[in-house]
Amino acid sequence: MASLDQYSTMIIIALIVLFSATIFMNIRTIRIHKSSLKLAQYDQLTELPNRSKIQELITEKLATSYKYMYFILIDLDNFKWINDTFGFSSGNELIRQFVSRIQDEIHEEANFSRMEGNLFLIAHTAESYEEAEIYAHNIQTSLLTPFTLKGNPIILTASIGVSVAPTHGTNTWDLLKHAEQALYHVKESGKNFIALYNEDTHNKDTERQLGLQFREALSNQEFYLCYQPKVDAMTKQITSVEALVRWQSSKFGFVSPATFIPIAEKNGFIFDLTEWILVEACKQMKKWELSGSPIQKVSVNISAHHFLANTLDQMVTAALNESELSGDRLELEITETSVMENLQMATGTINRLQELGVSVALDDFGTGVSSLTYLKTLPIHTLKIDKSFIDELAQSDRDAALVRMIIELAKIFKLKVVAEGVESIDQLSILCSLQCDEIQGYYISKPLVSEEMDSFISNLAVLQR
Ligand code: C2E
Ligand code: MG
Ligand code: MG
Repeated sequence: MASLDQYSTMIIIALIVLFSATIFMNIRTIRIHKSSLKLAQYDQLTELPNRSKIQELITEKLATSYKYMYFILIDLDNFKWINDTFGFSSGNELIRQFVSRIQDEIHEEANFSRMEGNLFLIAHTAESYEEAEIYAHNIQTSLLTPFTLKGNPIILTASIGVSVAPTHGTNTWDLLKHAEQALYHVKESGKNFIALYNEDTHNKDTERQLGLQFREALSNQEFYLCYQPKVDAMTKQITSVEALVRWQSSKFGFVSPATFIPIAEKNGFIFDLTEWILVEACKQMKKWELSGSPIQKVSVNISAHHFLANTLDQMVTAALNESELSGDRLELEITETSVMENLQMATGTINRLQELGVSVALDDFGTGVSSLTYLKTLPIHTLKIDKSFIDELAQSDRDAALVRMIIELAKIFKLKVVAEGVESIDQLSILCSLQCDEIQGYYISKPLVSEEMDSFISNLAVLQR
């Protein structure tokens, strides 16, 4: 039988064993945890921080004080070829050689990361803008000495995109995005050079990408029309609607017409687009006509290019015929700038349109050229006072005087006058007192899809009271 002392000794030993085991297990768990954390944050092949770790490090660095901080994004060109030709393990070997060469090149406190595959990032502070560019050039020059794979000399080239804080952003997301956009530009333009982020270049790239998408968007029915009502200033009854195109792109989301119309004009797509808009608007107007709607006319915006190409009247005739709509149900909105390049030709086109019964409105009047010559020469029916004069109408005597003058001018030329962009009751009552004929703007209604028009018209009764 064991004595009490022996029992206590055994219990103490058991407790020590249990305690040590627990500590050991905890240390192991911490070690395993630490090593899995390391796995999640560092690239196994190169031991460089990976994308998520570098983002954390950069965010910390950006929170310190710095004059400039550069972000050099390096993409090794044609790396797939290396993997295909020499195999993956040689590809990996080359990545290791590349990393070690770059480590010799960069500042020891610079952050160097393998973002993914053959994409690397270097981030560090700098005293000047030029310093960032010099770093990027040094990296490129360091690649000129060939690497060696299985005894073969291999020349690597790199496409490099650079962004610099604070000029191109002050947060990790913006700076990486801008370095990526600069890199994308290099790759699109033939690889193997360095580009510093530049807003113009980026805008051009966006423009090009949007432009490439148009035709697919048209066939996928991503464009649709909204209609903004115009009402009689006195009776508040709806007279007509302006068709405004919208683009809900599957690739870019909603794109404003103010963005894509100028691009469509530049790349020639505007012809197909206007053709589609005319047909669609005429068909909708025909539906309203057949259903006895009070909407008398639909207007369609026409770009300058149509006056230079001289095919507008054919396009309009075809759209009217297709929907069996009579010309007096259609109005075209043009701007002075759109006709000024060839006034004679434009006058001819408008005259031919008039023979079809189609009327023409001068849009955005008061902005751009606004010359009396156009009012005198062009066979137009309506003047639309630009929103910029309406905005301050209730506050600025000067704007009120200008609007009064435009309305009087319109009366002299026997033109109907429409105020655009009316947003408040004060603007509306001033325009009524100045005897403006028609009103368009958010105060009356935002542009609506055709299905919303009926309920808008029934609600108009409220305004008429
Ligand atoms: P716009 O022809 O002068 O059209 C008026 C613009 O002002 C429209 O913008 C309209 O939504 C907006 N607007 C109307 N009332 C108000 C208001 O009370 N407040 C404010 N803040 N805005 C108001 P949207 O639809 O974005 O169109 C912008 C421009 O894009 C148009 O100016 C026109 O030049 C062009 N555009 C739009 N649709 C077409 C189209 O189908 N064909 C062509 N060629 N150009 C179009
Ligand atoms: Mg317009
Ligand atoms: Mg306008």
